[in-house]
Amino acid sequence: MNKEFNTVGFGHPCFNPDATLYHGRVHLPVAPKCNIKCKYCDRKTGCVNENRPGVTTKVMDPYEAILYAKKMLKREPRISVIGIAGPGDPLYNDETFLTFKLISLEFKDMIKCLSTNGLLLSDKLPLLINCGVSTITVTINAIDPNIGKEIYDYAIYKDNTYRGIDAAKLLIEKQLEGIEAACDNGLLVKVNTVLIPGINDKHIDDIAKKIKELGVYIMNIMPLIPQAEFSHLKAPKCNELEKVRLQNSKIISQMYHCRQCRADAAGLLGDDI
Ligand code: SF4
Ligand code: SF4
Repeated sequence: MNKEFNTVGFGHPCFNPDATLYHGRVHLPVAPKCNIKCKYCDRKTGCVNENRPGVTTKVMDPYEAILYAKKMLKREPRISVIGIAGPGDPLYNDETFLTFKLISLEFKDMIKCLSTNGLLLSDKLPLLINCGVSTITVTINAIDPNIGKEIYDYAIYKDNTYRGIDAAKLLIEKQLEGIEAACDNGLLVKVNTVLIPGINDKHIDDIAKKIKELGVYIMNIMPLIPQAEFSHLKAPKCNELEKVRLQNSKIISQMYHCRQCRADAAGLLGDDI
């Protein structure tokens, strides 16, 4: 159903670059836990001076988050999207669903958005639909488990911990299953892919082809921020990133304006308040 752009995307600055001047977003940091470990992940709370995914000034409970959203909307009335983007995986935190319920009550016209690693996407999709979430982002860094095992340390699913290639196999299978189901149910789906030189840089077009086939609307290839276990790797240079985006634009629409936002970001993209 969402193989073509639906009207929701017009008001979402991450799905529509033309919307960035008129529409902003607020992220509510209600989801601290994560069920996988990406080797580049370094989550931080109490963080005021870094602008990147996984950091937030504080983790909020759902009621506190609604007050935060109200405050940010007063400061920037052009905010049209309320999203949950961490600092962990939103689907692994029950607070996410209560927060969306509260958003529905308090902000009827807002687009509800979520980003996830996708491990629980197919399991939680009925809940998300019930909460009125219409746009989602899934981060997929590999569709080949042999590459995935270099990126992920472990995955926890239904009280079992998987490691190495088993973790990668499970994660990839659940990501693709979840994306297909989300697209079939009319959600607008974006895929974020972290470009990790020497690890997945020759594999990006395989991901692009697969997600296009599943009905994903747009791909966002993001440069690695070298940290945690990947702190020894180099971030891709701007021209390398642009080259990969350009090549893959022949397969699927590309996002060129991502700001790699914090889990508590608010305002217009590139003009946080
Ligand atoms: Fe960190 Fe996100 Fe990966 Fe979880 S899915 S380990 S929060 S980067
Ligand atoms: Fe949009 Fe990128 Fe920021 Fe996510 S990280 S809200 S995709 S600009």
